[in-house]
Amino acid sequence: MALRKIRQYYDEILRKKAKEVNKVDERTKELIEDMLETMYNAEGVGLAAPQVGILKRVIVIDVGEGPIVLINPKIIDSKGECMMKEGCLSIPGITGEVIRPEIVTAEALDLNEEKVVIEGEGLLARALLHEIDHLDGVLFTDKALRVIDSDIKEGD
Ligand code: ZN
Repeated sequence: MALRKIRQYYDEILRKKAKEVNKVDERTKELIEDMLETMYNAEGVGLAAPQVGILKRVIVIDVGEGPIVLINPKIIDSKGECMMKEGCLSIPGITGEVIRPEIVTAEALDLNEEKVVIEGEGLLARALLHEIDHLDGVLFTDKALRVIDSDIKEGD
């Protein structure tokens, strides 16, 4: 396992569309292990492969309930909407208020190329939507109603 460099917002790779994974081979598994290590090291709750410079449709998430690895994830259903503050490991020091669905269902492949369906609410829904956006070159700042520079101290 190895830490990978997290690409920053000005890196054009973050604006590209990632490609579907056809085969979960050793390289993909190594990528996933590195992504998990990189995410935990940076104390993030999610990371998408383009954030480490790889244009594959792979995301990892941990909202405090253990690691979730999703390959070729797609949102297949969503309900409600809510506003939450978001941040991104690729945009340090910035948070933004973003309106997104409150509950989402995503379909993906797991490490064994088996189909998995995951329903998320609250922070997990938010992480799924945020990370899947990364696979299409979308950053949360594109959707934020208000962007806050966290370096300017204001109450949370
Ligand atoms: Zn992000």
